[in-house]
Amino acid sequence: MTNELFRRLATIYLGEAIRYPKLRAVTLAQWALESGRGSSALARDHYNFGGLKWRKEMTPYATKVKYAAHDGEDFYCKFATLENFIAGYWAFLNRTPYSGWEANVATPEKFIRFVGPIYTPRPNYADAVLALAPEAEALLADVEKAEAAAVKPAAAPAVSLGVIVIDPGHGGNSDVSGSSANNAISVSNVKEKKLTLDFALILRDELLRQAAARNETVQVVLTRTTDINVTGKARAAMAFDHKAKLFLCIHFNGNKSATVRGTETFYRAKENNNINLAADMEFAGAVQTALFTALKTIDPGAKDRGIKPDNQGNPNLPGFGVLNDISLGNDRRQTPCRAAYIEAEFITNPSVDKLLISGPNAVPNRIAAMAAVAGACLAQMRKIP
Ligand SMILES: [Zn+2]
Repeated sequence: MTNELFRRLATIYLGEAIRYPKLRAVTLAQWALESGRGSSALARDHYNFGGLKWRKEMTPYATKVKYAAHDGEDFYCKFATLENFIAGYWAFLNRTPYSGWEANVATPEKFIRFVGPIYTPRPNYADAVLALAPEAEALLADVEKAEAAAVKPAAAPAVSLGVIVIDPGHGGNSDVSGSSANNAISVSNVKEKKLTLDFALILRDELLRQAAARNETVQVVLTRTTDINVTGKARAAMAFDHKAKLFLCIHFNGNKSATVRGTETFYRAKENNNINLAADMEFAGAVQTALFTALKTIDPGAKDRGIKPDNQGNPNLPGFGVLNDISLGNDRRQTPCRAAYIEAEFITNPSVDKLLISGPNAVPNRIAAMAAVAGACLAQMRKIP
C-alpha cells in the first residue's frame, strides 16, 4: 500500500476519533479493496475510496458527481477532503439499509460479515476485505511511526536540502492564542481548516517526490496532521526546534463579496522587527509566483494579489503572530528561517470553489498547485547553505 494518496488517507484516519477504533484497520482494508489501494479514478479525483454512490443523506459530507464505473454511469459522492470521506463513510452506514450494524462491532470480522453483504452482492466480499486487514494494520503502524519521526528521509547517498516546516492553518474546535479554530468557509460549505490540512499533506508528498527525483533528501515537518489547533507561537517554534530553513503557512481567504478572488502571500513586515526581511521577501515572492502561475495555467480567472507585509502597510498593526521572528527563534539562530504565509485563494468565490474544492478536477488542480509550490520551496532550499 505505497500509493501516496492512500497513505495520506491512513495519516488522516489515524488522527480521527472514531466510535469503534478497533474497526479502523478493517475499514481501511475495505477502502483498499474498493479503491485499488487508492488507485481508482473515484479515489484519485473525488476522494471516494468506498465506491459510495450518491444518497441524499450524504449532503453534509459530499457533493454529487456523475461517474462511469464498471457497472455503468451513476451518481457518486465527491468528497472535498479526506476527513470528509471518513466522516461520510460512517454516516453512510447510519442509513436504513445498514440498520443494526452497531450490534455487530464486537470484532472486525463480525462487522464486515454484517456490513459486506449489504454493501455489495459480490460473493466472498468479507473474506476479500479480511485478507487485506493485516496489510491495513501494517500501513497504520508504519504511518504512525513515520509521523512520530517527522518523516525523516531514509538514509541515502543523496544531497540533503534540510528541513521545511509546513503549517496548515487553524484546526480543532476552539480558538487558541494566535490561531482561531477556523476562519473561512467555502461556497460548498467546506471549512478552511480541512483544506489547509489537505493541501499541506499534498505539498509534503510533492516535496518528497520532487527531491527524490533529483537524488536529494528533504525533511518535511507538519505543525499538525490531525484536526487539532496549535498556538501561533508553538507552530513557529517547530521551525526553530527542527532548525528549519523554511516555514510556510497555508491558509485560504474569505470575503463577504463572492466576486473577490486572488492569491496573495504575506511576509513579516519591517516595522514588526523582521530580522531577515530581504530573505523572507524572496521566499514569499517565489512561492507566490509559483502558486499564481500554476493556478493561472488551470484557470484564466486567477488573480495575482502579490506579496504583502503582515501589517498590510499599517505600521500600527502587529502582524501575524505565527510569523514573529522571535517565535521562529530567528533571534537565536545564525541562519534565520525564512517564513511566508500563503492565502491561496478566496474560497467564498464560486469559481474558486469549483476550481479547488467541488469541481470535477479539484483534486488534480490542488496537486498541480502544490507541485508548483514544492518546486519553489526546493529551489529556495538549494540556495540556503
Ligand atoms: Zn486562515
